[in-house]
Amino acid sequence: MNTAPPARPLPEMRCPLCGGPNGCLPAATGRFDTPCWCRDIAFPASLLAQVPADKAGRACVCAKCAQSAA
Ligand SMILES: [Zn+2]
Repeated sequence: MNTAPPARPLPEMRCPLCGGPNGCLPAATGRFDTPCWCRDIAFPASLLAQVPADKAGRACVCAKCAQSAA
């Protein structure tokens, strides 16, 4: 994929996999320097592969989906 990441976090507050709240703080504040739980865990490639292309790199997967894939 060659899509450049957005300059600012998009207000994507929902998990692209289950549609539930993703708890992403940068999405809520609009700042990438806002600490987020998702920086402390590794998302398996098999999980990221399930994210629709138009959401990849833009919407956070929620903790529940991340843990269920681990
Ligand atoms: Zn989810």
